[in-house]
Amino acid sequence: MKNLDYFCEVPSDCADGTEDRSVYLTFDDGPLCTPEILDVLAEHRVPATFFVIGAYAADRPELIRRMIAEGHEVANHTMTHPDLSRCGPGEVEREILEANRAIRMACPQVTVRHMRAPYGIWSEEVLTTSVSAGLAPVHWSVDPRDWARPGVDAIVDAVLAGVRPGAIVLLHDGCPPDELKPGTRATLRDQTVKALFRLIPALHDRGFVIRSLPQLH
Ligand SMILES: [Zn+2]
Repeated sequence: MKNLDYFCEVPSDCADGTEDRSVYLTFDDGPLCTPEILDVLAEHRVPATFFVIGAYAADRPELIRRMIAEGHEVANHTMTHPDLSRCGPGEVEREILEANRAIRMACPQVTVRHMRAPYGIWSEEVLTTSVSAGLAPVHWSVDPRDWARPGVDAIVDAVLAGVRPGAIVLLHDGCPPDELKPGTRATLRDQTVKALFRLIPALHDRGFVIRSLPQLH
């Protein structure tokens, strides 16, 4: 058996079109501040992939349905966002399968195709379990650290400095349950939303095409 690995970029043989300047926007840790993000994506008519936390998906199923209705992809970011390398036997599988179930409960017609490990911490067990569940493991190649709220300029600049054809950009429309403080939802991802307003046109100006993640293999 070949060693399993995760995808940091979309290999050109997986790109589903002839366009070779495709880039991919991904959002983790939601759905929380998702309506604002969806509004920007809709305004610019670009698709994204949302790696959702299953427990949040169960709480806000209408947001999962809105993602799908608006042409986005919903992917697996585990049920409760633990560090999977510290999980006990059976827990990794449970975290992944329960999240799949929560997504399907919210939107039965959805096909979940991709998985991203919380904190990007992958192990052999996480990779094997993901692949057995039919989920391609997806990391990222561009991380502007928007979760740390470094400022809108810093987010935009970091993405534009790092992006190249096939790039997978990591952004956030929420935060892990153990970091969620009451009353902060309104400002939690305001920098990400503002950055997106500038980032999408800037990527288009540079000739990039923002696409949905293809089937990775
Ligand atoms: Zn996460």
